[in-house]
Amino acid sequence: MPTLVLSHAASLNHDTGSGHPERPDRIRAIEQVLSHESFQSLYRLQAPGGDHQAILRVHPQEYVDAIEKAAPAEGLIRVDPDTIMSPGTIDAIMHAVGGTVLAVNAVMHGNVDNAFVAIRPPGHHAERATPMGFCFFNTAAIAVRQAQAVHKAERVAIMDFDVHHGNGTQDIFWSDRNVLYCSTHQMPLFPGTGARDERGEFDNIVNAPLSSGADGAAFREAVETVILPRIDAFRPDLIVISAGFDAHRLDPLANINLVEADFAWITARLLDIADKHCKGRVVSLLEGGYDLEGLARSVAAHVLTLMGHMPR
Ligand SMILES: [Zn+2]
Repeated sequence: MPTLVLSHAASLNHDTGSGHPERPDRIRAIEQVLSHESFQSLYRLQAPGGDHQAILRVHPQEYVDAIEKAAPAEGLIRVDPDTIMSPGTIDAIMHAVGGTVLAVNAVMHGNVDNAFVAIRPPGHHAERATPMGFCFFNTAAIAVRQAQAVHKAERVAIMDFDVHHGNGTQDIFWSDRNVLYCSTHQMPLFPGTGARDERGEFDNIVNAPLSSGADGAAFREAVETVILPRIDAFRPDLIVISAGFDAHRLDPLANINLVEADFAWITARLLDIADKHCKGRVVSLLEGGYDLEGLARSVAAHVLTLMGHMPR
């Protein structure tokens, strides 16, 4: 079965203003690399528009209403110092939600092996009722709740290898024994959460912070010793990846020195665990990654591994 990749042109119309790192060119760089013949066997679909039902499993109605009302008819507005809305933002968000939901449905039904959702804005900093860090709705959380509510997944594990800690995802699942949230991230760095002793009400949060300057060896050791044994022991019915590529050595927003091979490696390790427990079910969602070359090359390595074309 193929790997599914979802995207939508609406991602290009979420305008964050000149000089903002979370910009439409990120999606253009990914589309360009995925147009290479190595990716011909991908199953490509347009991300459909999402519906409120999926969002409301994570975010309260008043928050959804407030975000929709905040969108400007023209120009840009800031909902926090880093998080900007333009007239195209709501449409981009809704296709990000719709792509996430379709990816979960396709993977849980067994129509595809796994899926990568190449959309923006990202989601992992969004808390239940707070937008922040370029994020509005928490797509990783929406994916988890979709799998549980519609497909009766009991346990869902999230691996977040974005260089920033996913404070929103951690917050949403802090007291949920059926969701294991695992994160590698640079610390100290925005948003400031993610210390090792933040473990969740049911020991269901696993944080493995990395020091500035850490390389692939340090990353792999943290993943191998701290995170993978926990995901394996959790026996997930689905693994959701918050796939941020801003731990790449070229990234301007952080100081971790991963290379493409490190992203391929963690993808392969997660696929191994998914093969063991849940028929290989993996849904990967684009989060950060702000150097266009580093982002494109890392996404290529990640998706090739999902397709089974990189060494497992
Ligand atoms: Zn990030």
